[in-house]
Amino acid sequence: MKVIIIGAGIGGTSAGIALQRLGHDVVIYDQMRENKPVGAALSLWSNGVKVLNWLGLGAEVAELGGDMATMAYRDGHSGEVLCDFSLAPVTAQSGQKPYPVARADLQALLMRTFGLDGIHLGRKVVAIADDGASVTVTFADGATDTADLVLGADGARSLTRTYVQPDGAPEIVREYSGYTNFNGLIPVDSAIGGADAWTTYVAEGKRAAVMPVAGDRFYFWFDVPQPAGIPYDRSEGKAPLEAAFAGWAPGVQALIDAIDPAVSLNRVEIWDITPFHTWAKGRVAILGDAAHNTSPDIGQGACSALEDSFALGIAFATNTVSVEDTLHRYEKMRAERAGELVLRARKRGDETHAYDPDATATWYESLRGSDGAGIIRGIVSNIEGSPVNLGGGVL
Ligand SMILES: Cc1cc2nc3c(=O)[nH]c(=O)nc-3n(C[C@H](O)[C@H](O)[C@H](O)COP(=O)(O)OP(=O)(O)OC[C@H]3O[C@@H](n4cnc5c(N)ncnc54)[C@H](O)[C@@H]3O)c2cc1C
Repeated sequence: MKVIIIGAGIGGTSAGIALQRLGHDVVIYDQMRENKPVGAALSLWSNGVKVLNWLGLGAEVAELGGDMATMAYRDGHSGEVLCDFSLAPVTAQSGQKPYPVARADLQALLMRTFGLDGIHLGRKVVAIADDGASVTVTFADGATDTADLVLGADGARSLTRTYVQPDGAPEIVREYSGYTNFNGLIPVDSAIGGADAWTTYVAEGKRAAVMPVAGDRFYFWFDVPQPAGIPYDRSEGKAPLEAAFAGWAPGVQALIDAIDPAVSLNRVEIWDITPFHTWAKGRVAILGDAAHNTSPDIGQGACSALEDSFALGIAFATNTVSVEDTLHRYEKMRAERAGELVLRARKRGDETHAYDPDATATWYESLRGSDGAGIIRGIVSNIEGSPVNLGGGVL
């Protein structure tokens, strides 16, 4: 079977590897001219790592992953440790250690594993047409390519998502999550947090956090609740962070001081999409952010894209009726689970960003002296429903 994948992000490349390993002829097109992942790093929870293990990349991902042994919350103003506990139960209960990884490292690994010859950059898809026997994509320059199956891994503003929706369905729109995220990479610094700890400073509905990734680096991020559309010019560098976190604890000041905006500082407004359940039409389906655009509040967006790739792999390995039938089985396996994670992330974002100040104050209080059991339960429950834990059973 010939497969066209639109989008060379984590979703597209991982799905490409899964289908290649089943012996299919897969080609990936992406509109970007060079591989430039948005964002510095991400946390790969056990469900995401398990899919990478299944794709044969376990050793490589372990190399890229930071050793995140503990989790600590600190008061943003005073720096006082509110709680500090081991993350070992996450590994024990899920069967796989989670890893924070630098995005560029993961993206390069996936692209290399898929094969750079099969990834065509600078190719923007502008139209999709399915004649029942094959699907043709048209590029911005008017050229076309035809395959048995087209997968849209084309991200939050997906063209393929619009294509697969039923005629007359309401327009799917992104919704602002209420905050801006700043992120990047800095060298590990014990003045900010332990070298093997995920440390988060909290106050005023804002967060400043670090997680270890390979190469003695911290992935850092800040959340700043604010309206959408505030102008930002890169020449402003970290000035918005200095303003938003003025007077915060010494560890946060050390973090801001360590940032070199010319080397690593990204700013992104956070939006998501209310879950929807049509992911496939004919010989075309969507995956990744195209299908379930989430806020990063439980760190599951890319992990969910990896679950999609696993589900597509299992679906095409085991079903033989038709491409259309297999895609509907994939959709059935994935839409509810992925949508639930989007809603969980939204709920968590509401709690952490003080949209209801009393709820956030209660959360801060619950952190004080916590043994982490509730937090671990939450993390593990995000992982538990993964199809990777059930294998082909869900089919
Ligand atoms: C601040 C932040 C932190 C995050 N942290 C985490 C985390 O800790 N853990 C986690 O699991 N997830 C995290 N995520 C989510 C994660 O980044 C995404 O879910 C994931 O990267 C989505 O991958 P994707 O391949 O679906 O989409 P993308 O990476 O967006 O890739 C889509 C690709 O499609 C291409 N494309 C789009 N339209 C076309 C077209 N018409 N023709 C050709 N190409 C096209 C684009 O150029 C792009 O390369 C975070 C997200 C953000 C914003």
